Amino acid sequence: ERVDIHNFAAGPSPLPTPVLHKAAQSLLNYNGTGMGVCELSHRGKEFKAIVEGAEANLRTLLAIPDTHAVFFTQGGGTQQFSSTVLNLLSSHRLRKAAHGEKEFVPPTIDYVVTGSWSSKASAEAKRLVVPPVPGAQPFAKIHVAATTKPSGFNTLPAREQYEFSFKPDAKEEDSNTAFVYYCENETINGVEFPADADAHGAFPFDLVPAHIPIVADYSSSFISRPIPHVERHAVIYAGAQKNLGPAGTTVVIVRKDLLVDTTEASLLGNVPAVPIELEYKTLADNGSLYNTPPVFAIYVSALVLEYLLHEKGGIKGVTATNERKARKLYEALDRAEEKNVLKAKVKQLEARSWMNVTFEVVAKEGEDREKEFLAGAEKQGFRQIKGHRSIGGIRASLYNAVTEESVDALVQYIDEFVKAHA
Ligand code: PMP
Repeated sequence: ERVDIHNFAAGPSPLPTPVLHKAAQSLLNYNGTGMGVCELSHRGKEFKAIVEGAEANLRTLLAIPDTHAVFFTQGGGTQQFSSTVLNLLSSHRLRKAAHGEKEFVPPTIDYVVTGSWSSKASAEAKRLVVPPVPGAQPFAKIHVAATTKPSGFNTLPAREQYEFSFKPDAKEEDSNTAFVYYCENETINGVEFPADADAHGAFPFDLVPAHIPIVADYSSSFISRPIPHVERHAVIYAGAQKNLGPAGTTVVIVRKDLLVDTTEASLLGNVPAVPIELEYKTLADNGSLYNTPPVFAIYVSALVLEYLLHEKGGIKGVTATNERKARKLYEALDRAEEKNVLKAKVKQLEARSWMNVTFEVVAKEGEDREKEFLAGAEKQGFRQIKGHRSIGGIRASLYNAVTEESVDALVQYIDEFVKAHA
């Protein structure tokens, strides 16, 4: 049975209780088959129906167009740091060759760095494409198009701060950018691109010519609200373990014209080889079943998708609830800041993450107020709200399965803490 606590974990994080009950039952006996869901062949009709249902529901929830393939794989977001680079360098190489490129010129990859995860992604790209040997030819160059590091990753770049490696009106034949990369929600820092495309800090899609692929890491904001310009993305990926399901599977959405045979690209030279299990074309062509998939993680994700669609009002219902949850908590933190007790780390309103709310307990000489805040929280049933070890402070993650009641309880605790310390 569930215990009555409030789990604000950053991931793995809470899953809806009805889903867990159903999953527990299915572990023993899936749909009356007498076999547990982890005991079914992944090639059988039962599992095929699970994957197909999950894909169909995901397409409905996020309005994913037919121009894009959807598949489930393993390796988490971290694997996608590498996979995006490897696959898109191959498709870029083939596209360049088709346009008659005679001599290889290393393409550029543009990274927008807004926090820990996009920093890690760009570091991995560099590791893969720039040989550490002096004088060796790189497969590509890494260009930081914008970074908010000087702000301590507490803001988003302003539109005029982007310095892409291309002009907004660059022609395809004159440009040599393999892709542009951004992380929609920075889980550790609590910074998220605003959903409103016209808001200050919104990702500047219009500055990227249509022929340049855009890649987005949606690991910690997937299905929390609609994806702006979903059709404009070349790749969108998300590890399951926040909003979707248990750790162990990753959803990847790829524009179909980018599903290329990377062996063909290798024949042209000057591209890194792509392990077959990372090749998007292979994964998509085989409907997530090229090799044995993480069946349980996919099954629970399928249940979550069904639950969101049929019990939570689809993406509209989910969005409305998430908006309220985030607003209530930030309002409480702003009240607390007025009394100089707590303060949200992200001040720029449009940059505040709906999913990961990061804040600090204002220090007071002679008192360890953060310790007191955390101990009091623990006592009242709030779990896993300590900030990431790399930056400290407090972080409350408000993923889909965190109820509004849990947020209300946290707001009440904050208000009481402020009253006691103001
Ligand atoms: N990107 C983001 C935004 C994340 O939050 C995380 C994990 N918290 C990752 C990537 C890495 O994912 P994984 O641990 O699944 O490799």
